Amino acid sequence: MIQNPIFIVGCSRSGTCMLGEVLKKHPHIHCLIEYPTTFKYSQYLCFHSEIHNDLLTRKHVKYLYNNAWKKTWRKCQKCSSGCQKIQYRRHGIFSPCYIPVNIKRYADKSHSNLINVNLLREVFPQSQFLHIYRDARDVVTSMLHYDRLTRRFSTKIKVGKDSSWPQPWYGIESKKHFFEWQEWSLAKKMAHAWESRIQQAKKHQKNFSKSSWLDICYENLLEQPATTTQKIFEFLELDYFPQTHSHIYKENSAKWQSFLQPQQLSDILENSPSLHDLGYLP
Ligand SMILES: [Zn+2]
Repeated sequence: MIQNPIFIVGCSRSGTCMLGEVLKKHPHIHCLIEYPTTFKYSQYLCFHSEIHNDLLTRKHVKYLYNNAWKKTWRKCQKCSSGCQKIQYRRHGIFSPCYIPVNIKRYADKSHSNLINVNLLREVFPQSQFLHIYRDARDVVTSMLHYDRLTRRFSTKIKVGKDSSWPQPWYGIESKKHFFEWQEWSLAKKMAHAWESRIQQAKKHQKNFSKSSWLDICYENLLEQPATTTQKIFEFLELDYFPQTHSHIYKENSAKWQSFLQPQQLSDILENSPSLHDLGYLP
C-alpha cells in the first residue's frame, strides 16, 4: 500500500507534462504520466462529483492507483504516448517504465485531478500535491491549437441539458449558466475554465499545510529550472538531481503575442482576473 503519493495537478496546457517528466527523471520516483486507467478515471471523476463521497469510489481509487504503480515497471508499452516518448529517449525502445530499485516515492500526472483533490486526499491522507499554473494567454493559445480541447469546448460531448450541476471541469455553475456559456466564444470558455482552476487551487492552498501543497509557476520553471526544481524536491523530501530538468527550454513562453486576435485577447483578459493576482499583469 502506497502511503504518500505525489499528484501533479493543473489546468490543461499548463506544463503538467513537463513537470511529470521532471519527476520521471528522478531516480527515486516512479511517475505515471497519463497512465490510461488512472488518467481516464480521473477524467470521469471530474464530471461525476456526485460519487466522490461514496465508499466504493474511494476503494476503487485506492485499488486503481496501487495497481497502476505496481504494474508498469517492466515495459512501457501499456503507458501513454507521453510516458513512452520520455522513456524511449532515455533508454531506447525496450525501455522499462522505471527501474524498480531505490524507488522511494510514487507520483501520478493526471492534471484534471485538480478537481478531485479532496477525494484523493481522503484516500491518501499523506499525499502531496504539485500544482503548476501558467499565463492564461498562453494556456488559451495552446488550447486553441489542440484539437481535442477545441472539440471539448465547442460541442456537448461531456456536458448537456441533463447533466448534473455544477460542472467544475468547465467552470459551469448551473443549468442556467450552461445556456449562457454555450453562446460564448472558445477563448472566453477556455479563459473561464482557467480562472475556475486557479480558484479551486487557491482554496486547496489555503486549506492544506505547506508540506502537502506546492504552487509552481510554469514561467519560473522555464526561467530558473535549477532553483525551481530544487524547491520541488525539497518539498518532496528527496535529493536534487540536475538531470531532472535537462529537457526544459526557455523559449516556450509568451507565444500568445504572435497568435491571439484582439477579440480573443480581450475575451481572455476579461475572464481571467487572477492574471493580476498571479503577477502576470500589473
Ligand atoms: Zn511508462
